[in-house]
Formats: sequence, C-alpha cells, structure tokens
Amino acid sequence: IEIDSPTLSGRHLNVLSAPYGDKQRLLVARDVTQLHRAHQIRSDFVANVSHELRTPITVFRGYLETLTMKQTKVPAEWDNALEHMTAQAERMRILVEELLLLSRLESEDSVPHPVTVNVAALITDIHAQARELSGEAEHLFSLEVDSDLHLKGSPEELFSALSNIVFNAIHYTQARGIVQIRWSRTDTGGAEFSVTDNGRGISTEHLPRLTERFYRVDGSRDRQSYNGGTGLGLAIVKHVLTRHDAKLLIESTAGSGSCFTARFSPNAVAKPPLDRDTGVRDVG
Ligand code: ADP
Repeated sequence: IEIDSPTLSGRHLNVLSAPYGDKQRLLVARDVTQLHRAHQIRSDFVANVSHELRTPITVFRGYLETLTMKQTKVPAEWDNALEHMTAQAERMRILVEELLLLSRLESEDSVPHPVTVNVAALITDIHAQARELSGEAEHLFSLEVDSDLHLKGSPEELFSALSNIVFNAIHYTQARGIVQIRWSRTDTGGAEFSVTDNGRGISTEHLPRLTERFYRVDGSRDRQSYNGGTGLGLAIVKHVLTRHDAKLLIESTAGSGSCFTARFSPNAVAKPPLDRDTGVRDVG
C-alpha cells in the first residue's frame, strides 16, 4: 500500500508486508516521495501543454473554416490540402480535449458530486449516436437493457466511458457487423455493461496493454483500419471505471470479435427510489 508518512509531512511511503519465516511477517517501507514528485511533474506538464495548445488550435480552426467557406475565393488546387488540414486540426482538438480529460481524471480519485445516473437513458442516447456514426455501414444493433438499474456517479463521465466502448465496436467491426449492448444485474448485486461485436478482434498479446495511453493495435500500418482514433479512449474508460468502483474486462479473438465488459461492484449501484405511494423501498 502507499501512504503519507505519519511523521514527516510531504513524504510518501510504499509499505509491503509479506510472510517471513515461521509465523512471522516482514515489513518493508520505502520512501517513494521522489517517484511521486516525478509523476506529479509529468501530469502537470501534460495538463499545461494541453491547456496551452487549446487557443492556437482554436485560432487555426477558425481560419480554416473561413478558408473553406464558399464566399472565400481560394484556388481549387487548395481544396485537397484544406480538407486534410481541417481533418488534422479536428484530430488535434480531440487529442487535446482527451488529454485534458485524462489529466482531470488522474488528479482526483473519486467523482466530486455523485448523483443517481439513469444508465438506460444514457444507453438510449449512446445508441442514437452509434447509429449515426455507423451511417452507411448499417451495423446491426441489439439492446438488452434493465431500465430500473441505476448507478451512483457522474453522468458525463459514464457517458464518455460507455460510449467509447460502443463507438470502438463500430470502428473495429465491418459494415453490417453485429453490435450487442447489454446492461444487467450481476449475481452478486453489482451491474454489468457489456458490448459484444463480431469485428476484427484483438490478438491476445495486445490485451494487457490496450488501456495504456496511445496504445493502438496495428496503428498506422493497417490502412484499412480506423484512423481517426487517438489511442486515449480506453485509458479514459479505465480511469472513469476505477472512479466508479468498476473494472474493465476484455475478451477477444483475433478475426472473430470482442466483448468489452464494465463490471460495477454492488457499491456503485444506486438504491431504487422510494415508492411514492407507500414510501417503501422496492427491494424485489
Ligand atoms: P482508439 O482511439 O485507437 O480507438 P482506444 O484506446 O479506444 O483507442 O482503443 C485502443 C485500441 O484497442 C484500438 O486502437 C484498437 O486497436 C483496439 N480496440 C478497441 N476496441 C476494439 C474492438 N471493439 N475491436 C477490435 N479492436 C478494438
């Protein structure tokens, strides 16, 4: 475990207790203050750079927008270049926004003001956006949703995490492929959000690294692959889930599909509201 030093302020200790010899335990305490500081400097640096990049990117996009307007007389040979620049500027904007979101998620361990989140309603919105994203690829969606199952937490963060999983299923599944979304209780009183697709899948060696920042399978090598991604999506998903008492489980077989599951502990599940007529809590 990591703790603040009980005697020296500003010092962090890493404490390990292990079985040692006959009915004894060995306690090792390591001062990890420097490591903490290095981590803090890195996080601050990423947050500051991202923040500083926001304004230049906004200015850049503004001028690009003007240049691509019909009234602006730009020679036709620039059309291609302007289109590329607009797409890349948008990519930069998303990167910076996602890095800022990650920094914010990293700097606080828990959701500041948790509320009851109607997950079924979130899924309805995600489904609508997913169909739009799928567009002409016409993925086949199926939904199985427990509409009485609510969570405690941040609706914005949960939307971001759950939608990321669904949108990935679309990006990495061929046209007219299947995307199944499930939201249900678990046997232990927790809840599970799972998305199963029959897309390209992921080979086993990549699975442990998928939630690292910027980790992408195949990356630029695969021209057929979805290139709009940042590689930050699953890192955000993992942080959001940790803050909501949940874990991300990934099962996948290369060539046949994947299943991403967010498993919430019973602590994360919101109690059902009091019945208005009887004042009795529905525990059925
Ligand atoms: P990206 O922005 O690249 O989608 P993510 O962090 O969301 O970044 O995902 C990391 C990588 O995991 C992706 O680049 C992709 O290779 C792989 N991946 C994520 N979801 C799926 C999926 N449903 N099917 C196949 N591969 C996936």
